[in-house]
Amino acid sequence: MQRRKFLQYAGVSTALGGLTACKGGSESEATKTTSSSNKTWEWRMVTTWPKNFPGLGTGAEFLAEQINVMSNGRIHVKVYGAGELVPAFEIFDAVANGAAHMGHGSAYYWKGKYPALQFFSTTPFGMTAMEMNAWLYHGGGMELWQKAYDQFGLVPMAAGNTGVQMAGWFNKEINSLDDLKGLKMRIPGLGGEVLKRAGGTPVNLPGGELFTSLQSGNIDATEWVGPYNDLAFGFHKIAKYYYYPGWHEPGTTLECFINKSAFEELPEDLQSIVTNACRVANQDMLTEYIARNNDALDTLVNDHQVELRELPVEVIRKLAKLSEEVTSELGHTDPLAREIFDSYSNFSKKSRAWFDISERAYLNLRMG
Ligand code: CA
Repeated sequence: MQRRKFLQYAGVSTALGGLTACKGGSESEATKTTSSSNKTWEWRMVTTWPKNFPGLGTGAEFLAEQINVMSNGRIHVKVYGAGELVPAFEIFDAVANGAAHMGHGSAYYWKGKYPALQFFSTTPFGMTAMEMNAWLYHGGGMELWQKAYDQFGLVPMAAGNTGVQMAGWFNKEINSLDDLKGLKMRIPGLGGEVLKRAGGTPVNLPGGELFTSLQSGNIDATEWVGPYNDLAFGFHKIAKYYYYPGWHEPGTTLECFINKSAFEELPEDLQSIVTNACRVANQDMLTEYIARNNDALDTLVNDHQVELRELPVEVIRKLAKLSEEVTSELGHTDPLAREIFDSYSNFSKKSRAWFDISERAYLNLRMG
C-alpha cells in the first residue's frame, strides 16, 4: 500500500518537473511524508461559474480533480457551481468565513471589498497572460496578492487565464472616436470606466441577459470572452461585427483562493500539492483557451461568415490614454494599492522592453 502511494507521489513529482522534486527529496523522505498521517480532508470549492461552464467552470473541476488525484484522496475537493451552495458573488465571503474551503473566480469581482484587487485579474492595456504569470511567480506579484488577501483571511493562487479576449460584438461600426459617443455597451470593471470617459455608456449585465439585450437593441455592443465562449453563446446570430483586440482584458487571471486556517492546517506536502495543482490548472486553462479559440474562430469566420474588424488606431490610442489614467487613479487610492500599482507597472514596463525585441519582433517577422 505504502509502495503504491509512493509510486503515485513519485509520478506527480516527475510530472511537475522540478517543482516538487526539490521539495520531495529522497524516497525515504517522500515515503515518510505520505505515511505521516491517515487524516483526510473534505473540502468544498465554491465558484462564480455555472457548473461545468466551458473553460472557466471546467477549469475549476480540473483543479479539484488534480488535487484529489495528486493527494491520493487525502484531500477530496467537491466543486459547487454558482448558486449551488452560495450565489456567485458571495463566494469570497463564504470562503473567508469558512462556509467553504476554497473558491474559484477572478479578483476583479471583489473590487467592492478592495478596489486594488483588480490588478490581480487584468487591467485595460495591462499585462498579457505570459507577463502576468511572470509577475506573479517571479516578479513579486504573488507576495503582494497574498498581502492583499491576507486582510480577508484568504490565500490566493493563480488558477487559469483566458489569454487576450476579444473587444466584443457590435451592431454599430466603430470608425472613429465619435462612434464611441453614446455607445451602449456591456463592459464591466475598469474597461467600462474607460469607455465612460470616452463618451460611451457602459452597462453591467449578467451573462444570461446578454443575448436578449443585444438582440432587442437594448445595448449596441457586448464584450464576453473570446471565440470559444462567444461561439457557444451564439452572438454571431445577432451581431454584425466582431471587433478585436480585447484591450480591456488582455490576459485575465482566474484565481483559486483558500481559507487561510484551512490551508495552514494541511501538512506541508498537501500544501505543496494544492499549490502545484493550481500551477498546473493555471497553465492548462490558458492552453485550452488558445486551442479552442483557434478552432472556434475558424468556425465563426468560415461557417458563419462573421465579419472580423480591428479597432481603428485612433480609437485604440485614446482608450490606451484613458486606461492609463483610470489605472493610475486606482493605484493611488491607499498605500497598499500604491505598492501593488508600482510593482505592476514597473514589471510591465520592463516586460515591454523585452517583449518588443522577443515576442513582438518574432510575431511581426512571422506575419511579414
Ligand atoms: Ca470579458
